Amino acid sequence: MTDIKYDYLIVGAGLFGAVFAYEAGKAGKKCLVVDKRSHTGGNVYCENIDGINVHKYGAHIFHTSNKDIWDYVNQFAVFNRYTNSPLANYKGELYNLPFNMNTFYQLWKVATPEAAQMKIREQVEKLNIKEPKNLEEQALSLVGPDIYNKLIKDYTEKQWGRPATELPAFIIKRLPLRFTYDNNYFDDKYQGIPEGGYNVIIDKMLANADICLNVDFFAEREALSERAHKIVYTGMIDQYFNYCYGKLEYRSLHFEHEQRNIPNYQGNAVVNYTDKETPYTRIIEHKHFEFGTQPVTVVTKEYPADWSEGKEPYYPINDDRNSNLYKQYKELAEKEMNVIFGGRLAEYKYYDMHHIIAHALKKVRLELDNSK
Ligand code: FAD
Ligand code: UDP
Repeated sequence: MTDIKYDYLIVGAGLFGAVFAYEAGKAGKKCLVVDKRSHTGGNVYCENIDGINVHKYGAHIFHTSNKDIWDYVNQFAVFNRYTNSPLANYKGELYNLPFNMNTFYQLWKVATPEAAQMKIREQVEKLNIKEPKNLEEQALSLVGPDIYNKLIKDYTEKQWGRPATELPAFIIKRLPLRFTYDNNYFDDKYQGIPEGGYNVIIDKMLANADICLNVDFFAEREALSERAHKIVYTGMIDQYFNYCYGKLEYRSLHFEHEQRNIPNYQGNAVVNYTDKETPYTRIIEHKHFEFGTQPVTVVTKEYPADWSEGKEPYYPINDDRNSNLYKQYKELAEKEMNVIFGGRLAEYKYYDMHHIIAHALKKVRLELDNSK
């Protein structure tokens, strides 16, 4: 590396870092982006295998109701018409997700919204839950025990490695509940997959930045920090502060990718396994994200895992203990004048891609305005 002084050292070449680099570059700023992985893109990275864009870190479907964000991403790629409609496999029985009239018909043979609502109401009233205090109570009070026991409880407890009674209620509110025959997993106005995968977007965003891969910020912290006026940090916030208040908890995943010599393995991009016995939560068949017609296929089994140092921290665990601990780190972060913290790990939030883009744009625009 040479001695150039950069305006920004961006730690993490994920979506947050890439949006920041793109906007700063447009404003004439020089950015050095480092990532400890061997590729850019963070968790949206895709690897092309047999002509199929494989989402190496789990299924990524872009969705938003924010027209500005939709227009923003569309300047980097053409989005296809993919609509996420996962299936749930519970001990061999198949159900449509999210919870909608198809699911209710499959479960109870009720064919009208009124009959489905009555069925749920009968079940929910018996429980007498006034104010749901955790994910279990929230789910039960929304859909009742039949759906909770077949489609939510075991999946959730596998995914998070803890009882649903110890998880925050907001997690289950990510899933729509509707009384129409509509299997669209999202309520958002806009949805799709970028043709050619997410790398198309990331490559364009990072085109004007200098990039160093296989570089862990903490291995060269001082030398790297000296190379720029400011740092944009998108890694784990507790690691940045040397875990001084203790460790935040994360949930990790393990992915098993398999090439299969058949054109179509499961007929759908996403199939969730909602029973306790199956060790993985979902199987992804990547070609279906882009309506692929290749003679072969690639499928990925997604296994939830405990997080420990050295593993990838995919999900923050936003329970009370961790949320309080995060607040302490956030106070420290606010005092770091030359560091901008952003992204899923540095803000310790269950952000989707559209949230990340919105937050990155807000932060970079504020920063660029202040630096004028
Ligand atoms: P990341 O993508 O995690 O990028 C952070 C980068 O920083 C990584 O590349 C990491 O290697 C690097 N880094 C960390 N520490 C260091 C260090 N010390 N030194 C150097 N580099 C470092 N969102 C949706 O909108 N739709 C979906 O369908 C969807 N599905 C998802 C499925 C899964 C399984 C997961 C885990 C997430 C999903 N998301 C989805 C969320 C989406 O992945 C995130 O919102 C987004 O990718 C976060 O971007 P980021 O830049 O904050 O973080
Ligand atoms: N969930 C569930 N059953 C399913 C799918 C999801 O109970 O078949 C619950 C589970 O608690 C999960 C949450 O809904 O953590 C959010 O699901 P989502 O698909 O949004 O999770 P992600 O794709 O972020 O892992």
